Amino acid sequence: MEKKNFATKAIHLGSEPDVITGAMVPNIALSTTYSQKQLGNLSGSQDPNSFGLGYEYQRTGNPTRGAFERVIAACENGKYAVAFSSGSAAGAAIVQTIETGSHVISIDDVYGGTQRQFRKIFNPNSNIKFDFIDLQDLNLLKNTLKSDTKLIWIESPTNPTLKITDIKKVSNFIKNELKREDIKIVVDNTFATPYFQNPLDLGADVVLHSVTKYIGGHSDVVMGCVITNDQKFYSDLRFIQNGLGAVPSPFDCYMAIRGLKTLHLRMERAEENALQIANYLEKNTTYVDKCIYPGLESHPNHLIAKKQMKGYGAMITFLVKGDLKQTKLFLQNLQIFTLAESLGAVESLAECPALMTHASVPKEDRTKLGILDNLVRLSVGVENEEDLIEDLDNALKLAFQ
Ligand SMILES: *Cc1c(COP(=O)(O)O)cnc(C)c1O
Repeated sequence: MEKKNFATKAIHLGSEPDVITGAMVPNIALSTTYSQKQLGNLSGSQDPNSFGLGYEYQRTGNPTRGAFERVIAACENGKYAVAFSSGSAAGAAIVQTIETGSHVISIDDVYGGTQRQFRKIFNPNSNIKFDFIDLQDLNLLKNTLKSDTKLIWIESPTNPTLKITDIKKVSNFIKNELKREDIKIVVDNTFATPYFQNPLDLGADVVLHSVTKYIGGHSDVVMGCVITNDQKFYSDLRFIQNGLGAVPSPFDCYMAIRGLKTLHLRMERAEENALQIANYLEKNTTYVDKCIYPGLESHPNHLIAKKQMKGYGAMITFLVKGDLKQTKLFLQNLQIFTLAESLGAVESLAECPALMTHASVPKEDRTKLGILDNLVRLSVGVENEEDLIEDLDNALKLAFQ
């Protein structure tokens, strides 16, 4: 089953019929503790979901969580996955594998919450040093590397400016040209999803997801996970998962398993909608200054996206031809797109990153990255595309009346 195509794996792995009852749906295993027939002889050590170790206590191992970890690992073409209580906790666990005082290079336009964690928690509390750079320029990357650089943190596409990093190029440069085997290349793959992009196949060591977004897909679960082929890194993550305890609940894991089964259908439909909306916005030169979407030929990294992704995703960013006043009016007049943070669910959302998701990014950094007050981020859902375009069109007209 691990060798099958995405949709088959997503639907069947981790959801094998229960050996006793034949149940087709994984149990939500609530027990916090497990009986031991003899001292040290753990129950469930034959269960593949327990990764052969058996069960003793829910924080340490849980069948529903194990089922999710198995299916998501296979969906990223990885050997191992470790699930966490949020995408933020998953990201933190990755940073917690490196020593105090180490150095990390991150893409400059990294998710707002990630840069806040780096700047305001890991830097002051763990003395980890961060440099935020554009990873397209290999010379800049080389000049920023230090002898104690331990992680390169990529997000592709980024949030909200949808920059694309050539993952294979960075990985080749670090591993083959510079021979820096001591550096782990991390890719936050939340925006692309495992259906559209598999960073491990492109040379990355570690993949991170906020399961809260597309994998959950219905705005009703907060969760995260990390996938890797590196056994040592995996056992470090397991140790941190158990030791620090940011584990997802069995119910959340069940919701994530259920969400993952329709990820491919939702992504195909959302992408179709996004492409039509991006075309509409790009042509609407009366009210729109610029539309950014990796699927548009006008996107500066369109060709890299085409090469490394199987689809362009469903996030769109555009600049309203006006200032904060028109942008606010536009958002206020939307009827189907909901003004809200987050992304990746069946319903379409719109937001103003400068005031909402990226308000924690210092203003001068925001300006440098192009996160201006008139920049709007759309998470395109799976509603009817004509209704969505009509909604945007009406709201833009009303904003400029
Ligand atoms: C939402 C998000 C996160 C954080 O995930 P949570 O589940 O909200 O903690 C990390 N990276 C990206 C790209 C995200 O969109």
